[in-house]
Amino acid sequence: MKIQGANVNLNTTTFGSTVGQARQVGKPQPLGTILFGKVAPKKLDARDFPHLKKALQKARAMKRKLAFLAGDDDDEYELQLAEHELAMIDEEGTIFVGKEFLERFGEDEEILAGVLGHEVGHRPKTWPMLPGDVRISPDQRHQLSREEEGKADWFAGRALAELGYSPERVCALLVALDGRGNPSKDYYPVATRVSIIHEAHASQSRRRETLRAMFPGAARWRGARALIADDV
Ligand SMILES: [Zn+2]
Repeated sequence: MKIQGANVNLNTTTFGSTVGQARQVGKPQPLGTILFGKVAPKKLDARDFPHLKKALQKARAMKRKLAFLAGDDDDEYELQLAEHELAMIDEEGTIFVGKEFLERFGEDEEILAGVLGHEVGHRPKTWPMLPGDVRISPDQRHQLSREEEGKADWFAGRALAELGYSPERVCALLVALDGRGNPSKDYYPVATRVSIIHEAHASQSRRRETLRAMFPGAARWRGARALIADDV
């Protein structure tokens, strides 16, 4: 079986295909699980951090808007407070939101939109299942991972435009975080990520302007901001 993505062809390999030998074929797994691994951050009980209650409410309201923009249901995503620098999503749609991140940016809707937008943009329910016997070389894994991250960045840029935010501060945060540690091969270089977010933002802004010019009435009710009332 061949799976194509990121210009990478993956050939599944059967192990132990000799007659009489049992084939060791693992269970099919979602692509994202293979790319990102299964190490979840340590969960934290939100009840132990009452000072983050309002930030978590804001993050949940933002998640609902982002799910709507992605064309998904809000309950496909769950927010979980965790020990993490920023945020990450697993194959179940659980978004682990870092405690320090919320302490610093929990009141900042623009940063919340960009960071949670990136996570929702992974849309794990759409990850293809890869057979358990698929073999991915480290280079192929990096390439697929970069494409998956690029997809998430594109959605984040689009969502920022749709919600009326600038992409600048989210991009500045990425640049600031880039100075730490070794650059990961699982992401495009930060300059490319910034370009992706800017381009997605610009293209969505153009679409909004065109819509506004052509259908002034429709532009008033269209969009997550208008359709979903803020509840915070
Ligand atoms: Zn990501």
